[in-house]
Amino acid sequence: MKQPKDVLEMIQQENIRVVDIRFMDFPGIWQHFTVPVSEMSEDSFEDGYGFDGSSLRGWQPINASDMLVVPDASTARIDPFYEEKTLVLIGNIVDPVTREAYSRDPRHVAQKAENYLKQSGIGDTAFIGPEAEFFIFDDVRFDSQRNKAFYMVDSEEGVWNTGREENPNLAYKPRHKEGYFPVPPMDKGQDIRTDMMLALEDLGIDVECQHHEVATAGQAEIDMRFKPLMEMGDQLVWFKYVLKNVGHQYNKTVTFMPKPLFEDNGTGMHTHVSIWRDGVPLFAGDKYAGLSQEALYAVGGILRHCKALCAFTNPTTNSYKRLVPGFEAPVNLAYSSRNRSAAVRIPMYSASPKAKRIEFRTPDPSCNGYLAFSAILMAVIDGIENKIDPGDPMDKNIYDLPPEELAQIDSAPGSLEEALQGLADDHAFLLKGDVFTKDVVERWIEYKMEKEVNAIKLRPHPHEFFLYYDI
Ligand code: GLU
Ligand code: MG
Ligand code: MG
Repeated sequence: MKQPKDVLEMIQQENIRVVDIRFMDFPGIWQHFTVPVSEMSEDSFEDGYGFDGSSLRGWQPINASDMLVVPDASTARIDPFYEEKTLVLIGNIVDPVTREAYSRDPRHVAQKAENYLKQSGIGDTAFIGPEAEFFIFDDVRFDSQRNKAFYMVDSEEGVWNTGREENPNLAYKPRHKEGYFPVPPMDKGQDIRTDMMLALEDLGIDVECQHHEVATAGQAEIDMRFKPLMEMGDQLVWFKYVLKNVGHQYNKTVTFMPKPLFEDNGTGMHTHVSIWRDGVPLFAGDKYAGLSQEALYAVGGILRHCKALCAFTNPTTNSYKRLVPGFEAPVNLAYSSRNRSAAVRIPMYSASPKAKRIEFRTPDPSCNGYLAFSAILMAVIDGIENKIDPGDPMDKNIYDLPPEELAQIDSAPGSLEEALQGLADDHAFLLKGDVFTKDVVERWIEYKMEKEVNAIKLRPHPHEFFLYYDI
């Protein structure tokens, strides 16, 4: 792990003159400011740099606005996009008076979640593997001519995206929901995705695979190799940054919005989780689908707390447009080894105990990774500590169940408001070990209600004009 002196050495060796300090805001957007190397010494890693916390979304009130960001030497990487060679350091937020870590700093929540796992005695490492999907579009517009939400425009793929209105000759454009995964020329995204993949690899972020996804127009997925929770929290921010910036170089936009297209697949971020202790994987065993009893309890924890979890794993109003039947997104709170319609799947690709993990399919990449991964880990720990029985697996296709049987299975929340209510009703499992403080939970609910739920609820929707204007 890099120490401050290693970073200073790196600055010398690489002849770096510029340092960019970054941190994650409360809702989940990376923030930065830049200093010349003359402003950086070994002390900077203790003293930090001051900034105005009141200008950041969801943070300090104006009367207590001074904050510090203290760079973490172990996060040093060279930015691949700036013209001037620039060192990037991710920082932790600290109160300048008390010198305490700031409780609303998402990275601090992740640190506490990792510590709590160790304290609990259950394990020492939580491995996280997110499968973040995304769309690549030229631009985003609302097509009022068609009187419906027809948002994406892509010169190569997009105008044909439905193929349902005109049934055109598709001429090597993917058909509706057949984007997974024919070779070029149907796949127009190979070069851009490969550039994204290689840019990640150059940063030391291990990638397992890149491919086109099911949705017709420019949907893609790049999978990172699993890493410990905190490291993955940092990597996910780099991941989004790299993808957006490579997209920008191609004059494209990359969006992690969960459901940009009406009637097409949405964007998920299935999250694989396993717990290890002393180098031994704890989720492999002789129970259902090769899981251990602990793993089944972990599934129980995720299913029991799913409504509250969604407030962090699916934290946008748009997230709930994805969690509907028919688009490979999970709706029902069940688990299965085969079933992609269940909220938790047990992947069977490998028989190795090291590969045994559970896949929570509900999350989407609009989340703040530090908070989402921490909340998932806390549900897993709660499941194991309280021996929460996940019930029987559901190996049928849930989308095809008769209504009587379907009614027996609990569902994911239908809206952000419902998820926030779920969090208000059920958050004791998050407060253990002071990982999420009461303030973080309350501020999250208040922020999301005011800035997102109500902001959407009170606005006339474009489609309402189609339905009601002439009424
Ligand atoms: N895009 C699907 C979702 O919304 C997932 C497709 C898949 O990778 O199985 O979760
Ligand atoms: Mg996928
Ligand atoms: Mg998956």
